[in-house]
Amino acid sequence: MGISATSARLWHSLGLGPLWRERTVPPAPALLKQETRPAPSQLDWEGLEQAVAACTACGLCQSRTQTVFGVGSRSATWMFIGEAPGAEEDARGEPFVGQAGRLLDNMLAAVELGRDRSGEQAVFIANVLKCRPPGNRNPEAAEVAACAPFLRRQIELLHPRLMVVMGRFAAQAVLASDASIASLRGRVHQVAVGSDCYPVIVTYHPAYLLRNLADKSKVWDDLCFARQTYSRLTKDPTARPNDV
Ligand code: URA
Repeated sequence: MGISATSARLWHSLGLGPLWRERTVPPAPALLKQETRPAPSQLDWEGLEQAVAACTACGLCQSRTQTVFGVGSRSATWMFIGEAPGAEEDARGEPFVGQAGRLLDNMLAAVELGRDRSGEQAVFIANVLKCRPPGNRNPEAAEVAACAPFLRRQIELLHPRLMVVMGRFAAQAVLASDASIASLRGRVHQVAVGSDCYPVIVTYHPAYLLRNLADKSKVWDDLCFARQTYSRLTKDPTARPNDV
C-alpha cells in the first residue's frame, strides 16, 4: 500500500526517510492492445486475401512457404473445393498446380470449365486449408476449425450457383459428415453458409484418381451430373436442387 501525500510531507518535514512510493507497473501491452482486425465475415476479397496471408491461427503458419488463397474468377458461378495445398501449391501460392491439378484442369476442360475462363465457364478453386500440412499429412480438426471462417467467407463473397467438393476430406469438412465419397456421390447436398443455402455435389479427389484410374469414369459421371444440375438450377431459378 502507498502512503498519502500528507503523510509523505509529514515524514519529510520530520526528516524521516527514505520514502517509498508505490511503483506504477507499466501496463502489459499485449493485454491492453485492442484486437483491431475485422472478422473474416466482414472482409471483401482483397481484405480476405490479406487476412489469409497474415494468418497465424494454427501451427501451419510456421511451416508454410506462403498461403494458398484460391484461383479463378471472383465472379464465377462454379466453385471447386479441395483439401489443402501440397508441396507445389505451397511453392507457387496457387491451388492444384501439381500433377493432380493438371488432371483437374483436363477434367474441367472436358466439361467446358476452367480457372482461366470467363462467364458461365469460369470456376473459382479453393481448398479447405489455406496452408500446406507438412509432409502432406492429413489436416487436423483444429486446423480445419481455424481455417473455416476463410472458406466460409469465400463462399459468401463468390455466392456460387453450384459447389463441387473433391475428396473425402473436403466433403467431410464442408458437409460436416463422416460418410464415404461413394455414399455422398450422385445427389445434391445443401450447405448453409451465412444466410444462404448452397447446392453441393461430391466427387473423388484428382489425387485419388491418379492412384485409381478405374474410377475416372465415376468422376466423369459426377461432372456430367454437376453440369446437368447447374443447367437446371440456372435455367429455372425456382428449381430445387434435387428436383429431377
Ligand atoms: N490437393 C488439394 O486438395 N489441393 C491442392 O491445391 C493440391 C492438391
